[in-house]
Order: sequence, then structure tokens, then C-alpha cells
Amino acid sequence: METRNNNNNGKPNLLKETIFRSGRLMIAGPCSAESPEQLMDTARVLSADGRVHFLRAGIWKPRTSPGSFQGVGTEGLKWLSDIKNETGLPVATEVGSERHVYEALKYGVDLLWIGARTVSNPFTVQEIADAIRGVDVPVMVKNPLSPDIDLWEGAIKRFVKARISQVGAIHRGFTPNTKSVFRNQPNWAIPLMLRHRMPGLQIICDPSHIAGNRELVPLIAQRAITNNFDGLMIEVHPNPADALSDASQQICAGDFPGLMDKLFGDNEQNNPDDLLEELRLEIDNLDDNLVETLANRMELIKHITAVKKDIEMEVVQQSRWEKILERVMAEAGEKGLRSTFVKKLFTNIHKESCLFQKTHISKRRKNEKSE
Ligand code: PEP
Ligand code: MN
Repeated sequence: METRNNNNNGKPNLLKETIFRSGRLMIAGPCSAESPEQLMDTARVLSADGRVHFLRAGIWKPRTSPGSFQGVGTEGLKWLSDIKNETGLPVATEVGSERHVYEALKYGVDLLWIGARTVSNPFTVQEIADAIRGVDVPVMVKNPLSPDIDLWEGAIKRFVKARISQVGAIHRGFTPNTKSVFRNQPNWAIPLMLRHRMPGLQIICDPSHIAGNRELVPLIAQRAITNNFDGLMIEVHPNPADALSDASQQICAGDFPGLMDKLFGDNEQNNPDDLLEELRLEIDNLDDNLVETLANRMELIKHITAVKKDIEMEVVQQSRWEKILERVMAEAGEKGLRSTFVKKLFTNIHKESCLFQKTHISKRRKNEKSE
């Protein structure tokens, strides 16, 4: 097996050439294994396409709600093994415990990945790393749900320290803190920073879990390619509408070759219109966050107004305002924002806040007088 034929002289290095047969690692397949037929229908398309290195399928599904489909379990590993024998396509699955590792390896799974929910728990990550220790199988570590780069890096290091020679990362986006067009916020700066922190680490992108909706998958995939990611993991299903998990984000198997042509074909590579659209969606998302932050700030202003009125404090506290400005200007300066712009912006925010407080306090005073 090419993926296992990896002599690294005992030195733990990060993902090696071996699994990058064409420069970019391509993993595709259904969110979950559902039936032998569903897997075979997908595998046939992917194998015929010839640009996919691993068929992915979740066997054990870490679901948010207990009522959701939990995966077919070990039975699905037998299906994967049969499909591998029949099509020659190596297979990949998610492991979330020591037992999963043993079962997956027993059935010859060729690549293991650690899911976003598992990676947040260092005990479990260590347990999994210990179970894989010494086995020459590639491990891809998804980012945790929260945008915590240290936690992500720490998990990757646990596998490297367990002397697993092929360790890579998967960027699958972060839980959004406000409403968003994406299921998960891409926060591209985080995987790019990880690449900076761990030179040589191969990072691929999972546009399916970032997008959460199949229409947006090509845009995110294109952006990942523009950002020089080392590959993609894409959810593909023969009939996505009937999928038992992540139905809205899986690409129809029949559309997969077209997507590959679009992403990697000579004609439409790096289509600037697509990139523009994706960037605009991200800007809309950030603008929504700004509005939400302003609304939250105003909510606090309402509370502070009541406190100031009770203790008969002046609305404008010059020293406090100077401190706010000094702090945000320093922070903004570090992030490369122009000081005149930031000063103007915060002066306006402060003005609005003072106006609200003054109007509110004088209204309350009038009401009290008339009572
Ligand atoms: C998945 O790959 O289907 C999955 C559960 O992903 P994540 O861990 O990124 O949510
Ligand atoms: Mn999924």
C-alpha cells in the first residue's frame, strides 16, 4: 500500500509526499457510510474520475443531538474494505476513540481523521495518538469548533510526538458567533497562521463543512486553492437530498467531476468572479458581526445609563473615554489600521452612546418630576 510504505528513519516529520500523488491531496465521499450501495455508487464515480486519493465516509458520527443518525458503526468498515478491494480506492474515516482506531485499522482503513468535536479534548486526542503509535497510517487533524489555534496545534503535536510520520491538518471552519451565510466561519487567518507556526505541515480544506450548503462549496474550495491549501476534503453523495447526515452540503456524485474540472481545469482556474463572490460573502458576514457587536454594545449602554442615573453620575467621564480611545487605538495600530480612521469611528460610537444616555436620563427625570 503506497500510503503505508513510508520510511522516515524514525524521525517524526509532517505529512510526506507519499499521500500527495498529484501535488494536492483529494479526499471525497459521503458524510456518513449509509449502505454498501451508497458507498459503491460514490466510489465508482470518484474512482472513474481519477483525481481522488481517498474515499471518505464517517462510520461513527459525533452528532450534536442524540436523536440524529449516529453512524452505522463497525458494519460499515466491512463495506469500506470491500469497496477498496473492488475499486482500488484507498479509504478514510473519522476516529473518536481508542476502540475506533483498533476497529478501523483491523479493517485496513488507509487514512484516519480526527473530528472537530474530538480534537477539543486533549485526553481523547492523547488516547487516540497512543492507540495509533507506531502504526504507519496518515492522520489528519481537523480544527476544533472554537477558533483556538493552540488547541489545534497541540493536538497535531500529540500525533507527531507519538511518532506518527504522516500528520496533516484539515481546516473545516469555526462555529460562528452570529448568524452567517456559512455553516462555519472560515477565519482563513487561523490555518494560515498554523502553516506559519508549523512549516511543512500539509493543510487541506474541507469546504463542505465551512459552506454548509452545496451551492457555496465551489466558492470555498476555490478560495482554499487561491490560498495555496494542500488539498481538499469534499462531501459527495449519490443522492444528497436523502443523505442521513449533512444533506444540504453534500455535492451530488454526478456533479463531482465537473467541480474538479472547474477547480483544476486549465480554462477556469482561479476564476476572479468566483473569488470576488466568495470574498463578498465573507465581507457581508463580517458586516453582520459588526452590526451585532454595535447592538450588544448599545444594550450595555442601556444598563450603564441606569447605574449612572442611580448614583447621579455625569454621562461623560472624560478619563474613561480617554482610556477607551487609548486602548482601542493601540490595538488597532497593532493590527495595521489607520489611527485617524479608528479615532473617527470610535468618536462616533462614543457620541451615539452619550446621546442615548443623555436623552434617556433627561426623559426619566422628566417622568419622575411629573409623577
Ligand atoms: C465530518 O467530516 O462529517 C464531520 C463530522 O466533520 P467535523 O468533525 O468537521 O464536524
Ligand atoms: Mn459531515
